[in-house]
Formats: sequence, C-alpha cells, structure tokens
Amino acid sequence: MSTQTTQFIECINFAAIKHKDQRRKDPEQTPYINHPIGVAFILTSEAGISDLAVIQAALLHDTVEDTDTTIDEICQSFGEEVASIVSEVTDDKKLPKLARKQQQIEHAPHVSTKAKLVKLADKLYNLRDLNRARPNRWTEDRITEYFEWAALVVRGLRGTNKTLENSLDQLFRERNIIT
Ligand code: NDP
Ligand code: ZN
Repeated sequence: MSTQTTQFIECINFAAIKHKDQRRKDPEQTPYINHPIGVAFILTSEAGISDLAVIQAALLHDTVEDTDTTIDEICQSFGEEVASIVSEVTDDKKLPKLARKQQQIEHAPHVSTKAKLVKLADKLYNLRDLNRARPNRWTEDRITEYFEWAALVVRGLRGTNKTLENSLDQLFRERNIIT
C-alpha cells in the first residue's frame, strides 16, 4: 500500500478513536466522526483538493478543540504541517464561547491558505447540516444567528476556493444574508 494511503488510514482511525463517544447536535445524534469525514469529502469531491496535509487536517480539525488531543500529539503522529493547520483552525479553549466566536471572525483573514480551505469546508458542512435538520432546543432565530456569524467568518476566508465560496454564498442568499 502507498505511504499516502497508509497515512490517510492512520489519520481517519485516529480521529474515529478520539471522537468515539461524541455525537452531533442534530435530532438523530449522528456519530460525530461523520462531520470531519464529511468536511474532508467536501474538499476532495467539491473543492478539487488532493493535498494530503489538508485532507488530514480536515479529518483532525475538531480533535484538539473537542477531545483530549494535543497539537504535540498530532505533530508526533502526522508531522508539523498537519499540526500547524490544525492549530490554526482550533479555537482558544481558554476564552468564553462568545469571545471564541469573535476571535474566529478576527483570525480568519490571517490564517494560511490550507487552514482557510479547512475552515470554508467546515462552515459549508455545518450550514448544510443546519439546513438539513434543526438541532433539538435550537430556535429558528438561533439558526439565523449562526448563519450570520458564519457569513462574517467566511468574509475573511475569501479568495481561497471559488467553488466552496459560491456554495456558501448560495446558502447565505437563500437566507437573505448580505455578504
Ligand atoms: P454553537 O452555536 O457554537 O454550535 C454550533 C457548533 O456545533 C458548530 O459550529 C459545530 O461545530 C457544532 N455542531 C454539532 N452538531 C451540529 C449540527 N448538527 N449542525 C451544525 N453544527 C453542529 O453552540 P454553542 O453551544 O457553543 O453556543 C455558542 C453560542 O451560541 C453562544 O455564544 C451564543 O452566541 C449562541 N447562542 C444563541 C442562542 C439563541 O437562542 N439565539 C442560545 C444559546 C447560545 P464543529 O464544527 O466544531 O462541530
Ligand atoms: Zn468542525
């Protein structure tokens, strides 16, 4: 088997183990791992990305934020480039939730192109997920608020991948959100 395939399987296995007890917020409580796999699939199938480091970072993008995984651990297993992209897309867990959301808006324009690709695909997946099914206890207003915040983050990620940005813009237009 090629080295790339081996590294890819090692990565998806790592993410699956780390997220094994987590569920998404949709009413079906979909296994969490569907999300990072889906983000990686958006990158390969829609954005035309084949760079292994970007795909690995997409698979790992929520491990540090949502599990006990550290950037050092990712660096040991998958190397510096993947660790650096994951670090760029990880919120500062020391900040309260509202400040984290503001920081995403402020940081978006300053991250690397590879991190921007992961962030665009992540936002696209989450917005599609919200359109597909409303999480329990989320009001329509909260969903609108989420779309509006996502539009502000996406503003700082533009000029990275036309296909992803067009797909996101279509979702914003459907909700009359000015971008
Ligand atoms: P978030 O609003 O941050 O929840 C959205 C996040 O959950 C996504 O970014 C995604 O992150 C993850 N997620 C999991 N399942 C789904 C799914 N099915 N669809 C889309 N995203 C999913 O939730 P928090 O609980 O962290 O709340 C933070 C903020 O929400 C507060 O600061 C406040 O501004 C706002 N809020 C608004 C309320 C309202 O009624 N208007 C009420 C309460 C909070 P990932 O990619 O990491 O999985
Ligand atoms: Zn995510």
